[in-house]
Amino acid sequence: MDFFHKKYTCEIEGEKFASEVDLMTHYRSVHHKLILKCHKCGKEFIHEKDRLHHVREEHEKEMDARVHKSEHKSKASNNPQDQVDSNMRKFGDNL
Ligand SMILES: [Zn+2]
Ligand SMILES: [Zn+2]
Repeated sequence: MDFFHKKYTCEIEGEKFASEVDLMTHYRSVHHKLILKCHKCGKEFIHEKDRLHHVREEHEKEMDARVHKSEHKSKASNNPQDQVDSNMRKFGDNL
């Protein structure tokens, strides 16, 4: 009976929706739920923990890179792995 593979289920009454967007619209219009948005990509979530999980899974790398950049600013040149990496990159460019 599930022709559309409706895998998004309303947690309040168990209604099913084919897409997450439909479910979010339902939550907002029918249940007046506060929808949380990812500030990075605009993806919508009902629970803060889901949004945090998404940010951790999808955007953690970007945040890590930013943190490490400032952390290693002064000692980056002393890291032999950085030199290897830059050599590898040059090598790759020549191919
Ligand atoms: Zn509902
Ligand atoms: Zn996101």
